[in-house]
Amino acid sequence: MPSRNGCGRGVRGMTADEGTPTIHLLDPSEAMKIAAGEVVERPASVAKELVENSLDAGARRIRVEVASNQRQITRIAVTDDGIGMNRADARLAFLPHATSKIRALSDLENSLSLGFRGEALASIAAVSQVTLVTRCRGEGCGTATRVRVRGGEILDLAETGAPPGTTVVVEDLFFNTPARQKFLKSLQTELAQLAGALEALAISHPSVAFQFFHNGRERLATHRGPDLLEAIRGVYGNELAGDLIPLSAEHPLARVAGYISTPFSPRKTPSRVLISINGRPVFSRQILRAVRHGYGTLLPSHTYPIAFLDLRMDPSRVDVNVHPTKRHVRIGEEREILSVIEEAVRQSLVKEDLTPPAQEGAATRISREAIPSFMQRSAIRLPEERAISREPSPVSVRLTDRRLRQTELPTGMAGEESPVPELEVIGQIGGIYILARTRGDDLILIDQHAAHERVLYDQVTERRDARRVSQELLVPVILRESPGEAVLLREITGLLGERGFLVEEFGKDSFLVRGIPSVLGRMDDASTIHDLLGDIFSDEVDTPEEMRERISRSIACKGAIKAGTVCTLEQCQRLVIQLRLAKSPYTCPRGRPTMVSFSRAALDALFKRA
Ligand code: ADP
Ligand code: MG
Repeated sequence: MPSRNGCGRGVRGMTADEGTPTIHLLDPSEAMKIAAGEVVERPASVAKELVENSLDAGARRIRVEVASNQRQITRIAVTDDGIGMNRADARLAFLPHATSKIRALSDLENSLSLGFRGEALASIAAVSQVTLVTRCRGEGCGTATRVRVRGGEILDLAETGAPPGTTVVVEDLFFNTPARQKFLKSLQTELAQLAGALEALAISHPSVAFQFFHNGRERLATHRGPDLLEAIRGVYGNELAGDLIPLSAEHPLARVAGYISTPFSPRKTPSRVLISINGRPVFSRQILRAVRHGYGTLLPSHTYPIAFLDLRMDPSRVDVNVHPTKRHVRIGEEREILSVIEEAVRQSLVKEDLTPPAQEGAATRISREAIPSFMQRSAIRLPEERAISREPSPVSVRLTDRRLRQTELPTGMAGEESPVPELEVIGQIGGIYILARTRGDDLILIDQHAAHERVLYDQVTERRDARRVSQELLVPVILRESPGEAVLLREITGLLGERGFLVEEFGKDSFLVRGIPSVLGRMDDASTIHDLLGDIFSDEVDTPEEMRERISRSIACKGAIKAGTVCTLEQCQRLVIQLRLAKSPYTCPRGRPTMVSFSRAALDALFKRA
């Protein structure tokens, strides 16, 4: 944490009432070695840089207040109770390469501070209007200082009254760089990004109390405490925090601590895998992979667990000077550290009773003794291991007629206008493919999931009758979202409604789902709905049109019969008829083929009959 105490020295020392500066300008030769580039890309980066400064200043409480009008974020204010600045520093802070944190790049080796480039305040002030009010902590610190800077020019600097600590207010962001302004996404996307950055910082600093307000409403609040789990609770709610299991590992190279989820409710995206190294939230594909490997075969492919991991290691092993935003880092002896992480995940799962919840009828009980050896095997999935996973074995799922009928069009319409020839179903293969033939004896293989996805997609996008689009849930499902996701969800409730998803706000970051698209059949549990939303949020989209499309595809994919669902011949036949009625029967909405054909001639050629 911060070692400087500028105010004390300032008073004892030389200059009049400005105090001795602790900020200095980096030598140009040193400044050149530091990863340069834009740090102020969007409101979220402003908030992140300001909060990092507060953390570097040893703050125990940080309050972020964001205001927006209909279109954009108009004001970002960050207040902390950190060490503050004396007048001399307040003046220097806005100069490029002005920092109190390092003198030379080599200092980074021992530095745990989040900032070091001395560029954030300068670059923010260059493209906005910044008001800094700061007062240093300690005896003889005197009054506070207020500095206003606009477009890089100091407008005024004056004495003012304020408690110790610092407030930075940023307004008119990008007022003088219209090109930048144009690149901003929708208000809601920017807000979600900002909230996401704060979530990560709050999780990586449990000992600091965070508050985040948007237009006066509290959106996030964590309490000060030693416990990471408390911070997780503050950000993501009780429900998520309650299902986590602790993890820890000591190794000469690194200390790992955190919480991970059981493998029972895997997620479609890694949005809940948060990793910090020495208090710095980082993004690392390698660490993400190590975490997944730790789950071995417990985690279905293409899914992610929840994980909050805090790594502590000698700062000289972490090179943060890779990218200006410092989100990407280079780790020395990375391989070893990755295996520490993987092993830590494995061990904490081994300690846990991984008996699946009872209501999962088809699930197999995992005996405790069975886990270690099975998990120590590599992540390659052997066929017999599937039986141990808690997914019901593939053949146990039967397609209910209700599921299929829900979306069927009157089949009388299966007229001649379909580009797909009439097909006669011969059978189903592996619960995945439907084998059919045309009148001309061509052989057609149909991917039943892709086919059903296409059929549902047309249904979802064409139904106009609101009453048929949605089915009301007998028991509404309550969703608890993170502040960042809540912002997004709020934005799209209207669009979701058009597709049958009836969602309304229900207190802070909670939502009530009253109805779901009728094509989803009876999949009305919270985790299915969560998955679906995760899928919808997994890509950034810009326009409502794109979002509509995204929602429709996600609903179609979720609603479609899965690979491994056993269908009767008659059900297969009906699905094939529905597919022939689809507008683009040959591909699923995501562009994968729904069918491949082997013409009679091709078959003959294969057997050298030609
Ligand atoms: P860096 O964080 O890389 O040093 P910044 O431009 O973000 O560069 O900040 C410049 C300097 O201003 C910091 O080194 C620090 O001395 C001072 N400073 C900025 N924000 C605060 C704050 N919230 N509390 C105390 N000092 C601050
Ligand atoms: Mg900084």
